[in-house]
This record gives sequence, structure tokens and C-alpha cells, in this order.
Amino acid sequence: MDKRAILRSIPNMNELLEDKKIREFQERIGSEQLKKAIRNILEQVRSEIIEGKTENAINENHLKERIGKQLEKLTEPDMKKVINATGTILHTNLGRAPISKEHIQQILCMASGYSNLEYDLDKGHRGERYSHFDELLCRLTGAEAAMAVNNNAAAVLLMLSALGKEKEAIVSRGELVEIGGKFRIPDVMEQSGTILKEVGTTNKTHLEDYEKAITEETGMILKVHTSNYQIVGFTESVEIQRLAALGREHGIPVLADLGSGVLLSMEKYGLPHEPTVQEMIQAGADLVSFSGDKLLGGPQAGIIVGKKKYMDILKKHPLTRALRIDKFTAAALELTLREYLNPKNALSNLPALKMIAKTAEDIRKDANELCQMMQEKELPFEIGVEPCESQIGGGAFPTANLSGYAVVLTCKQKKCQDIVDAMEQLPVPVICRCQKDQIILDVRTLEKEDMEIIVRELELL
Ligand SMILES: *Cc1c(COP(=O)(O)O)cnc(C)c1O
Repeated sequence: MDKRAILRSIPNMNELLEDKKIREFQERIGSEQLKKAIRNILEQVRSEIIEGKTENAINENHLKERIGKQLEKLTEPDMKKVINATGTILHTNLGRAPISKEHIQQILCMASGYSNLEYDLDKGHRGERYSHFDELLCRLTGAEAAMAVNNNAAAVLLMLSALGKEKEAIVSRGELVEIGGKFRIPDVMEQSGTILKEVGTTNKTHLEDYEKAITEETGMILKVHTSNYQIVGFTESVEIQRLAALGREHGIPVLADLGSGVLLSMEKYGLPHEPTVQEMIQAGADLVSFSGDKLLGGPQAGIIVGKKKYMDILKKHPLTRALRIDKFTAAALELTLREYLNPKNALSNLPALKMIAKTAEDIRKDANELCQMMQEKELPFEIGVEPCESQIGGGAFPTANLSGYAVVLTCKQKKCQDIVDAMEQLPVPVICRCQKDQIILDVRTLEKEDMEIIVRELELL
């Protein structure tokens, strides 16, 4: 068909606006945005015709459907629940640590109205937003003082800016890390105005390397947890205890970026020993920073604990205002930390810790249940249960795996990757992986409710 004839077959705006379904969107987005959206699509349709991609007259119903879909995209929230069937517990792309429903319920009550976020109810005047959890943090870690900012990257930036500006910060060459999302220690140093003084070598740094580097220009010693990698073999690093003693001797603060930061030892669950925040404080670190949404299992935050004299400097720094946490974070952090008063509660009430603590046997039971629920439906898959390994994620315990079970789907008719892609387009997207032509649904990161959704949704594929 001739291009001009096809162009003439495009319905005009008024015709489209008469459509009942399209008109319904007017209530939600207003007539101006509605017309703009339609105009955009008509523009696209025109280009497609001119480029020769459309050979027949425009079908009015198809066009309306296309407009409807676009409008739906525009009006529906883009951020939504997904089901994490990857088994990676602290999946940064999927929002790291989930917050429990009970905590969300309490936050809802508080955040949908006003709160005492920065109001001291006992004294009847302005208070501090850390006041809801700083004593708890001190109690749990043994530190003198505590605060929190937006995330751990911000915490490190703040510590360096407030204590190291125009001075040298001594860091081991083996600890100049890059964390996902472009957080690199040397870059953060530059941003903070601190001068990086590298000591030692990639695999070995000794106490005397630090010692020799101390001059009039030294502002701090920084120890960075090599969260997401491990140097194995002929290696040596200096323990925080010895660094703290060296710092005290020279009157230099010793800071630690602990990365994930655990308050409970995870060895019982088959993970290697990680220094806990308490151990770092006990060993004499002046300030320790760690993330709220990694192994702590709380909201995104950068928690700083340590000596009061340094914390006071941080609190007065202008960056603190720019990096301050909001009411949701303050509330969620307080609730998270309260669970740690009794470690048993932390392990059963914080979803991320609960997933770590799940035994392979628990997971096998869940996997069998999911498998059976699926087998009862007529699905075009061969379905089975197989052992698998899950990761912690979030740059924590990079070399450790947790043993569990997965429901494994095999499909003869379709390509595995095509099914994995289609699962991401479901109303509640299911994120999973393809391995040796099989779809792996790791059950460790699934709630009971997720399993029911998966079974329901697979029928839509
Ligand atoms: C994860 C991590 C960070 C960044 O923490 P965020 O809370 O993601 O900003 C910084 N340093 C180390 C060592 C980390 O592991």
C-alpha cells in the first residue's frame, strides 16, 4: 500500500479520545498528559510508516490497544515487588535486605503521619534523629557513640572528609578496594580531600610499613575490609588491634570501613569468621563504619560507631546534613537493632538473617512442596528438586556458599533463556537463572507466599 494512503488511515486525536478505555485514563493523568502521550504514539506510528515498517492501513483497534498499553505503563508504578529465585540473599540489584512485614507495619503507622523524628518528647524541644537508635548501637557494639548516614559509602566519605582533609590517610595496598557501583577507595579519598598514602604491597603489608609512613602529615590510618574479594596464598595484613595501638602511640585516629558489618558470628551457619563490629571496637578502632542493608539485615544506611570525641567532629561536619537519613530509615534501623537485643530474635525476625540461618533440610522441604504444587498443575516442564549452592551477595563472604535446594525446570519446547526472560515479564516478575539448559529456582530466598505466586504465574507463561 502507498505510504500516503497509510498515513491517511491513521485515526485522529479526537477519534481516539472518544474511545471509552482511553478516556478512562484522563481521570488519572489529566487531559494534557493524555493528549501528549497519544500524540507521541501517533508520531511513532507516522515514522514507522515513513520508514517502510508498516505496509497496511492502520487498524484502529490495534492502535487503541497500543495506546492503552503505553498509558498503562505510564500510570502503573514502575517499581514493584519481584520474586528473588536467585538464592542470592543480599542482591544489590533487587534491593538487598528485605524488611519484615511486622516492621513495615510499624513504620507505616509512624510515617503516614507525624513522628518524633527530631523531637525530644521528654524535654519538649528539638532532638536528634540518631537518638532513637544511638544508645542501642552503643549497647550492642560497646562503642561510646554512634550515628548513621545514607549508606556506608557516605559514611566513609564523611569520616575521611571530617578527619582527614588535606592530611594523609595511610591505607594498605591490599585494601584499595572497588565495591560494585563505582565505589573505589582511592576515588572516595580524592573526593574527601584526603591524600592517599599507600603502604605495603598487594599481598603483604606489615606493621612497620604503617609505622614508617607516619609523619607530621598523617591524619589517620584506615583499614578497609576486602569485602568482595580474597587474596589467598602468601599474604599478610595487620590486625586492627596492632594498628589501634600504633595509632594511640602517635595520636592518630584508626578508622575501619567494615563493609558488611556483622553483629552476630555467622560461623554456625557454615560461613567463615568475620570480625564483628563489637570485636573491632574492643580491639580499639576509633571509628567503624558498616552498611545497614547488608548482613545487618536492615534498611540502607551507613552506620558509624566509635569514640565520642571523633563522632562529635563528624556530627558537626556540613556533609552530615547532606547525607542525613530520612524517617523511614531511622525507624527501620531502630526496629532492626532492637531485634539484636536477643540474637535469637534477630535470626528469626530479620528476613535476611533468617534466610542465612535456614538449614538445607528446611529448604529441601520447601523445595519439595513447591515442586509438588507445580506438578499438580499442567505445566510444560519436567520438574524436579536438586541440591544447589546460594550466595550471600552484597559483596559479603565472596567465596562462601550456602548449601540448599532448588526446584529445577526443564523445558523441551522452548529455549531456557527465553523462559527466564518471559518470567521477568510476569505481573510479579520472577528473577531466576538458566544453567545447563535448566531453569533454577533457588528456594532459599523464597517466602511461602512467593511459592504460591510462582505456581499461579507459571500457568501464564
Ligand atoms: C559495601 C561496601 C561499601 C559500600 O556500602 P554501601 O552501604 O553499599 O554504600 C563500602 N565499603 C565496603 C568495604 C563495602 O563492602
